[in-house]
Parts: sequence; C-alpha cells; structure tokens
Amino acid sequence: MNITPTDPRYADLVRKAFNKRFIGQPDYICLPGSTAEVIEAVQEAVNSRRRLVARSGGHCLEGFVGDPAVRVIIDMSLMTSVYYDTDKAAFAVEAGVTVGEMYRRLFLGWGVVLPAAEHPGVGVGGHVLGGAFGFLCREYGLAADHLYGVELVTVDAAGKAHSVIATREPDDPNRELWWAHTGGGGGNFGIVTRYWLRSPEVTGSDPYTALPKAPASITTFRITWDWKDFDQTTFTLLVRNFGQWCLENSHPGSAYIQLFNILFLNRRVLGKVEMKGLSTAGDKAETLIDEHLAAVTRGVDIPYTRQIEKSPWLSFALNPFPELFQPGFDQVRAKVKDAFLRRPFTDEQMATAWYYLTTQDYNAFGGLGLATYGGKVNEVPSDATASAQRDAILDTACNVGWGDPGQEADALAWVRAFYRDLYATSGGVPVPNQQTDGAMINHPDADLADPAWNTSGIPWYTLYYKDNYPRLQQVKRNWDPLNIFYHALSIRG
Ligand SMILES: Cc1cc2nc3c(=O)[nH]c(=O)nc-3n(C[C@H](O)[C@H](O)[C@H](O)COP(=O)(O)OP(=O)(O)OC[C@H]3O[C@@H](n4cnc5c(N)ncnc54)[C@H](O)[C@@H]3O)c2cc1C
Repeated sequence: MNITPTDPRYADLVRKAFNKRFIGQPDYICLPGSTAEVIEAVQEAVNSRRRLVARSGGHCLEGFVGDPAVRVIIDMSLMTSVYYDTDKAAFAVEAGVTVGEMYRRLFLGWGVVLPAAEHPGVGVGGHVLGGAFGFLCREYGLAADHLYGVELVTVDAAGKAHSVIATREPDDPNRELWWAHTGGGGGNFGIVTRYWLRSPEVTGSDPYTALPKAPASITTFRITWDWKDFDQTTFTLLVRNFGQWCLENSHPGSAYIQLFNILFLNRRVLGKVEMKGLSTAGDKAETLIDEHLAAVTRGVDIPYTRQIEKSPWLSFALNPFPELFQPGFDQVRAKVKDAFLRRPFTDEQMATAWYYLTTQDYNAFGGLGLATYGGKVNEVPSDATASAQRDAILDTACNVGWGDPGQEADALAWVRAFYRDLYATSGGVPVPNQQTDGAMINHPDADLADPAWNTSGIPWYTLYYKDNYPRLQQVKRNWDPLNIFYHALSIRG
C-alpha cells in the first residue's frame, strides 16, 4: 500500500532522512516486503511517470532522496533478512537492514564480519555499492571488496521493471553490473534488493569462513587536547606527524593495519582537538597504540588526556564511541566535503586549516576530520572494483553541522571556503594528482559539479570514479537506458 500524506506513517517516514537539510515531499512512500513488491512499486511509478528513488537507511549526505522533485520513495526498510545462502555459498543481506543489525546477525550467527560503516544506523542498501569504508577497512578492505553478487530491480528500454542477479563469476554475463555495484554509488542503475557477500579468496561453502572472522576484542583509545594550548607551530606539528604516520603505514603490508584512527581537528570554538581510534590486535593492541601515539605526538609538547578501553566486538560495533552519536545527532543539518589524500597536507594547506579552524569570521561549528586509510584497501587494483582510489593514505572531510536553519548560510560559507582554499592549487577540489585523489561517492558533495566551486576543469565524475567512469557509463546505458534512476551526481549514460 502506498503511504500518502494523510496516512499517519507519512510524517515519520518522510523525516527518516539523517541530514535534515533534505526533507522531501513525495506523493507517496512505498514499503515493499519482497523483490516482487519492489518490481510492482517501480512499475507503478514508471507507468504514472512519477520520478522515483530508493531509500534504505536514509543516511544520504546530499539531497538525492530528499529532492523536492522526487514523487515516490521506495523505502526498503522492511526487507531486512540476513542468512547464509547455500546455493551461492555467500551471505544474503537484504538492502533494508542497517549496518548495525547486519553486524549483529553475522556475528551472533557465525562469528564473522563485513568491514563496513562506522555508524550502525547507516543502511546497507545505499552503503555497500558506494565502496564503503569503516573502522576495519585497513585490516579487511572495503565492504564492496567482499561483494559476491547483487540482486536489483531495474527498468528496460521498453519501460518494464524486472529483477536481475549479477555476480563476480568470470562467466556471468551480468558481471559488469556486479562490478558497477562495487563502488558506483547509490541511485544509479536500479534498486538493490539483496547483496551476497563472500570474501574473494574464499572457496568452499562454510559460512564460518565466508567472511573475515570478527575481532576477538576492540581496544579503543581517545586522546583529548585543550584547543587553547595549541599555537600554530604545535598544531602544524601534530597534523604533519599524523600525515607522516599515514604515509609510512598505509601500504597493505604495514605492521599497523590493525589500527585505525581519526584526528578530529575541530573548530577552536568547540574547545578540543581529539583523536578516536581503535586496534583489533588483542594483546598487542596497546603496544600498537602506544607506538602510534608516540609517533603522532612527537615534539607536540602539550598535555592530553588518554582513555583506553577494551570491549567485545559487538558491544563496540553497536555503539561505537557513543559520544559521537548522541541523541539528537540524527536531527542535524550537515554538509560534508570529502577528499582522499595520497600524501600529507603541505605547509600551505596546514596554514589554511589553522586559519579556518581558528577564525572568528564565521559562526560555524565544524571541523576537519582525518581518517587513516589504506592497508588492505590498497591491495586491490584500481579497476578490479568500481572503487578507484587504491593508494590513498587518508580520507579527509571538512564538515559542518547546524540545528537552527538561520545558521545555514554561515555554516555553508565556512565549509565551502575552507575546502576551496585547502585545494586552491588545483581549482578548489582534490583532483587526482601526486597529492590528492578525488573523493568518495559515499560522501557525495554536489558542489563538485558546480563550476563556482570546482574551477579545476576536472569534472566531478573523474573526482569520484577516475578512469572507471566510462565503464560505469556503459553499465548505465545497458541497464538503465531510460535513466529512471538519477540524481545530482548520478552516472550519465
Ligand atoms: C552518520 C553517518 C555516518 C556514515 N559513516 C560512513 C562510513 O563510516 N563509511 C562510509 O563509507 N560511509 C559512511 N556514511 C555515508 C553512507 O555510506 C552513505 O550516505 C550511504 O549512501 C548511506 O546509505 P543509506 O542506505 O543509509 O542511505 P539512503 O539515504 O537511503 O540512500 C543513499 C543513496 O543510495 C541510494 N539507495 C538507497 N538504497 C538503495 C538501494 N537499495 N538500491 C540502490 N540505491 C539505493 C539512494 O537513492 C541515495 O542515492 C555515513 C553517513 C552518515 C550520515
């Protein structure tokens, strides 16, 4: 049944979006319970010429689902099965399940894990097909690296909706469609109803070994500095050390792939500079953490507090760093501007960061986050999956959040100017070059397609997909010839 504005469920469903900047006004929302019902829902929307989008977890950072032009949302949240499919010798995970619930089911059922998002509320549906990195990516790669197959509902040239299965088997005639779902991003080819997951090197049909074993324990660390203790020299040293550590330790053979860390360079008005990280190395975790901290804080002679905790995997995965995801966190309006780095920030970029983090010219609450990257992610060739960036050492994001719509103009002005100036030498965006390597499609930023903010001459799709874009276009032409599935940064056929 279609849920229209007079239905009491409509108000809740329409506000499911994490980023409250983008609340749409569709004619109706549909909640299918099976692939057959997704086909029916897509067909109905196509027949009535209504623009439709898929929604799974609602964690899109841009307005792809909340676009006011969207007339129908097909919400996958009732399709949440997770089971081992003996026919495919792979875990089947329906698109509507959240990452947290998938962690729970895979762990309690079989003791295994898919390396995926940090926030348990993210939907599997819109996440895995964007590559998908997280706390365990340095050890196990991207979620998409473990994608065996995908089922989706797509629309042919005659306007007929149907389902199709595509796997990575070399003789699968639909293999290119599988490939496009290993990093092509959401809302491009059809509506994914189900993923099948099995690590690439796995043979046989034992579910207990089909995916990586979940870590026996997680040792988290939190480091907090008082912002007012920093001057530009110590700030620069900390950022330089962090970048240098990543440069030295982001290859697949690094002794530190079981360590992940995020440096939160918050705006000074927020009071603190922080790091939150973890290691899965069990008894060796504290040693890895100590060595990492020694390298990152070398010469930064500023007191900090240090908190180390050990917890079992699932307790951590379902509530990681609770202070990050507090109640109200999902009521925020936000803008995130992502960039991959191949080499650490330069002195000029660190000076830019110092300025935008300390200036009082803007009323903005945000920061620059630097997440360790690479490790096993960097073992995979650029064209083996659609996730092209395979030698980055850091994933970074200028980000800002606000609650009061009145703050929006200042917040956006700050975050856009900050990012533009960080990448000033390459047209305001992190073009693929010696130092930067584009951005992640799971963190989409429509500014990259706006000539006012991207003056590099390098189109947005090269920033996200690099040389994989023409191949994605071919898949688009083959599988969505009528361009039924589109948004501001969708693949053009
Ligand atoms: C708090 C937060 C934390 C995050 N953490 C991480 C992280 O650690 N790692 C990371 O890689 N990313 C992270 N992200 C980004 C996240 O992976 C993407 O936003 C992802 O697209 C969200 O998927 P969703 O299903 O929740 O979103 P939705 O808003 O439901 O969808 C996002 C996009 O995918 C499309 N889509 C949704 N479902 C389907 C489907 N079934 N078939 C086809 N297309 C679909 C939508 O149409 C839309 O274009 C985070 C985002 C937030 C808000």
